Amino acid sequence: MAAKSINNVDFNGKRVLIRVDFNVPLNQNQEIVDDTRIRESLPTIRKVLDQGGVAILMTHLGRPKGHEPNFSLIPIAIHLSKLLNKNVVFDRELFSDRTKDVIKNLKGGDIALLENLRFYKEEELGDEDFAKNLADLADIYINDAFGTAHRAHCSTTTIAKFFQEKKYFGLLLENEIENLNKVLNTEKRPFTAIIGGAKVSTKIDVIRNLINRVDNMLIGGGMAFTFVKALGGNVGDSLIEEDKLEVARNMAAEMMRKGVNLFLPSDAIIANGFSNEAETRWSEADNIPDGWMGLDIGQRSIRRFAEIINNSETILWNGPMGVFEFERFKQGTKSLAISTASATIRGAFSLIGGGDSVAAINRYNLADQISYVSTGGGAMLEYLEGKELPAIKAILD
Ligand code: AMP
Repeated sequence: MAAKSINNVDFNGKRVLIRVDFNVPLNQNQEIVDDTRIRESLPTIRKVLDQGGVAILMTHLGRPKGHEPNFSLIPIAIHLSKLLNKNVVFDRELFSDRTKDVIKNLKGGDIALLENLRFYKEEELGDEDFAKNLADLADIYINDAFGTAHRAHCSTTTIAKFFQEKKYFGLLLENEIENLNKVLNTEKRPFTAIIGGAKVSTKIDVIRNLINRVDNMLIGGGMAFTFVKALGGNVGDSLIEEDKLEVARNMAAEMMRKGVNLFLPSDAIIANGFSNEAETRWSEADNIPDGWMGLDIGQRSIRRFAEIINNSETILWNGPMGVFEFERFKQGTKSLAISTASATIRGAFSLIGGGDSVAAINRYNLADQISYVSTGGGAMLEYLEGKELPAIKAILD
């Protein structure tokens, strides 16, 4: 890892192609709703520029089908220019002679942003010629896009082979890997994982890999009900994945065998419809009447989970405890966010990742109290599953 850090590279006079993740949400007026991903890559960009390198940025935005003007990076180029307080060269064409000339004429300290790579189908296909054309623009390649590190696309993976010894992790990507490794290999115990969200099917491999590492596994959210049912409970109309009952039962048994403490919600806030306006009640989590569904963990579970978190030295959290988007089912997620923040202030190491968990922690203004907030959703899950991410492998190879 250290050998692939940009900390020891001299960028002076070099042309540096940086894969960033500027896949930010835009509203109907093409305004950026949340620029976190752009700001997160500024340290890497500034390092190259400050040392007198030319920064050529590339990213995708959304899922366009061909050249769709709504997915153009023009608003991002304008915003980046404001953040850096300097002109950002932008051209709609990717490989025209004019674009190549413009890029060739950039001087040390200049910056350019290439148009949305997903306007070209070759990007997602990992096409070699396309990658070579991109690679020809620069001397050095940096990948700073953790959010797409699990994708074997041109700009994240194929391109690396054209840079041999001159490929590096950007500061953000390096930081992500270091912090995820810090959690996965922690010696600060007890180590508690909090896993929530809608479906168990998307987290099975994460749970399986964590069983060998954690002391406590707290499971909440919709997926908890597949576990509750698998262990004999009545969960009414709660979200259930019938085809995962067996897997859930086996995982619970494996945790018991391996001495991992599995905590499922013992009570729930239930509703007679999936809506903020539905009628709600308290219920034992394993005795939910038909016609009712669990949409949040209950007070007793919150107290128990908070107690475990308070006694933990390492905390990993992915996925909300309930339908936190609805005001009436946010309490479980909010309370555990507060518990995780206070455990961190006390000295525990905490890492939170995944779109919804990060949205929750931001909504409660607690991000500053968490040791590390990961920018990767799918990429983080795959890393936690123990998989080797193609973009990381491409740099290390
Ligand atoms: P995920 O992307 O798998 O982390 O799932 C996040 C989603 O899970 C959020 O949109 C939550 O509203 C949803 N969720 C959390 N708890 C429940 C629940 N008890 N029933 C249904 N959906 C839930």
